[in-house]
Amino acid sequence: MSVFGIFFGPIPEIFWSVYSGQPFFECIECCVPLIESNTFVIQKKFVGDEAVFEMAMCERCREKMVTEYSEETRQNISRYIREQFDKLSAEHTEGSEAALTQITELRQIEDPEEGAALLEQCIEYCIVCGAKRADCHRYSLTGLCRDEEIVAQVTPIGRTPLMVCDKCESGMSDLVSQQTRDSWDRFMARHFDGPPGVEIDSPTTYPIAF
Ligand SMILES: [Zn+2]
Ligand SMILES: [Zn+2]
Repeated sequence: MSVFGIFFGPIPEIFWSVYSGQPFFECIECCVPLIESNTFVIQKKFVGDEAVFEMAMCERCREKMVTEYSEETRQNISRYIREQFDKLSAEHTEGSEAALTQITELRQIEDPEEGAALLEQCIEYCIVCGAKRADCHRYSLTGLCRDEEIVAQVTPIGRTPLMVCDKCESGMSDLVSQQTRDSWDRFMARHFDGPPGVEIDSPTTYPIAF
């Protein structure tokens, strides 16, 4: 029962900063207010109900970071997610191939209720294995925002925001090259003090990689 479309709505609280109790305000890297960026990305990692990692990054810094990732990692991860997503869509959508060729333009959803449903479709299930978020003890969420809105978008080949369970994230660690790992470790050392209480491993970064 996949619905395709794009929706712009208020940023849900789950994508707010737990630290400030408000929506993210500035880029973690360059400290420029996010509102000044064309788009920005929010990433959070949860253990149970608790957010153990959170950050928001402006478009420019994100692009810069992605170029630091090795080409190999980028390709591996995009391919992996694409394959998994295709598998899931094929299971859930009848005639998904037909849908693929038919969609030329993404429908913009105006109805807030329909938009909320689209958003939920994105964050309530692991994009890789389809596990329910409520059943996952550890997972990460990544969302794309524009101004003060979150962009919810579901297409036959991908979706945003997205949720990935811990199991799938671990399964992806082989796809991450040493170069990417080092780049991520440098980033973490720059912005977060000392060793974090939970392992924030490199695979966490994959959503930013595509
Ligand atoms: Zn920035
Ligand atoms: Zn999963």
